[in-house]
Amino acid sequence: MMPSKQPNPNTTHLLIRHQEIALKGRNRPYFERRLTKNLARRVGESGKVLSLSGRVVVDLAEPARSDSGKLNHLISELAALSGVHAVTPCKVLGTDPERIKSEARDWARHDLDASADIRTFAVRTRRVDKKFPVRSNEIDITVGSAIQALKPGLTANLKKPDLRISIEIRAKHAMIYSNETNGVHGLPQDSSQRVICLLSGGIDSPVAACEIMRRGCSPVLVHFHSKPYTSEASIAKVKRLAAVIRRYSAHPVELWLVPLLDVQKAVRDQCNERHRTVHYRRFMMRIADELGRRVGAKAIVTGDALGQVASQTLTNLNAIEDAVKTAVLRPLISLDKDQIIVKARNLGTYEISIEPHDDACVLFASPNPSTQAGLSALLDEEARLPLYRLVFSALDAAEKIIV
Ligand code: ATP
Ligand code: MG
Repeated sequence: MMPSKQPNPNTTHLLIRHQEIALKGRNRPYFERRLTKNLARRVGESGKVLSLSGRVVVDLAEPARSDSGKLNHLISELAALSGVHAVTPCKVLGTDPERIKSEARDWARHDLDASADIRTFAVRTRRVDKKFPVRSNEIDITVGSAIQALKPGLTANLKKPDLRISIEIRAKHAMIYSNETNGVHGLPQDSSQRVICLLSGGIDSPVAACEIMRRGCSPVLVHFHSKPYTSEASIAKVKRLAAVIRRYSAHPVELWLVPLLDVQKAVRDQCNERHRTVHYRRFMMRIADELGRRVGAKAIVTGDALGQVASQTLTNLNAIEDAVKTAVLRPLISLDKDQIIVKARNLGTYEISIEPHDDACVLFASPNPSTQAGLSALLDEEARLPLYRLVFSALDAAEKIIV
C-alpha cells in the first residue's frame, strides 16, 4: 500500500476510487456515506472529503497539500481503508479548455522532472460532460504534442506508456492525474458489523482479521494466553500485531487478553490427553461467543486453513465449531501457507509474526494429538468440567486494551 512515487507538487486533491460499491444498486448511497465517513475520520485536519461531480475526493489542506512527506503518509493511510480501490493525487480545476491544456502540460513536466527514466508517454482524455466544446482526441493531440516538446526523445506509446496523463472533464470540474496507489479494495467498514477475531500471534490469524475487515466488518481482537507459562514478550508481540491491524480499521480496535490456564488445567486433569488441543479450542469458541454477546459481535473469525495442523482436519474443525451456535468464519480456509505468507507480507504483519512466541495451544498438549476427535467422546469428557464457570471466570479475569 506504499504510494508508488512522490506525489506531483501540483496536487490539490486526492481522488478516491471505489469499485464494488458501484454494484450495490439502490444501496449505493448507504455504502458511499459509510466510505465518506470513514475517510473523513482518517483525513482529519488534512483536508475535506467531498463529492465533486460524482467523484469522491479529498480537498487537501495545508500542510498536507505542499508537504510531500505528509501527503505520502496520508495516501497510504487512506489506501489501507476497506472500500478504497485506489488513491490518486490530482489537480482539480475549472473547465476552461486552454487552462486544462496548460495545466496538463505542467503536471507532465513535474512527473518528467521527478523520474529520469520516462521514455514513453500517453495522454488520455475522458469527457464525462459531452457538452464540453472540444473533443477528447483533440485534447489528447494538443496536450500530447506540448508534452513531447518538454523532453527530447520522448515518444508516444498508447498501450504501455511509462507515463500516462489522464484528463477527466466533468460538468463543473476537470481533473488531471497520473499515478495511483492501489487500495485494499473490499467494502467500507461498518461499525455495526462487529466480529470477534481470534488472534494467536502466528502468521495466519492477523491475515484472517484483515481479510474479514475488507468485507466491511469491525474486529474485536481476542488473544488467549497461559501466563505464567506463556511469556510477557508473547503478549507484547500480539499487541504489536494488533497495532498493524488497527491501521486497516476506521476506528480504534479492542484487544482482549484472556487467561486460559485454568481451562487448560481442568482439561489436563479430566480429559483424554490426545483431545486437549481440541478442548482448548472449544473453550476459546465458547469464551469468544460469550464476549461476542456482550460486545454485539455477530460472528467468530479464525485463521484456520484446512489440513494445516492436526486441529484443522475437517473432523476437528467440526468438533471445534460444534461448541457454539454463532457463525464461525474462516477466510483462509482454502489457502496454502505460501499464499497466506504473501498476504501477511503485503499487510506488514509477517515480520512480527515470525518472531518467536509461546503458543498457548501447545501447553500440556499431547505429542500425538488426535486428528479425528469424536464428538461424543469430547462431550463425555466435558461433562466432567464446570463449563460455564470456566468461561465466565476467564472473561472476568480478561484485560481489555484499546489499540
Ligand atoms: P496462526 O498462524 O494464526 O497461529 P496456526 O496455523 O498456528 O495459525 P492454530 O494454532 O491451529 O493455527 O490456530 C488456528 C486458529 O485458532 C488461529 O488462526 C487463531 O484464529 C485461533 N487461535 C489459536 N490459538 C489462539 C490463541 N492463543 N489466541 C487466540 N486465538 C487463537
Ligand atoms: Mg497458532
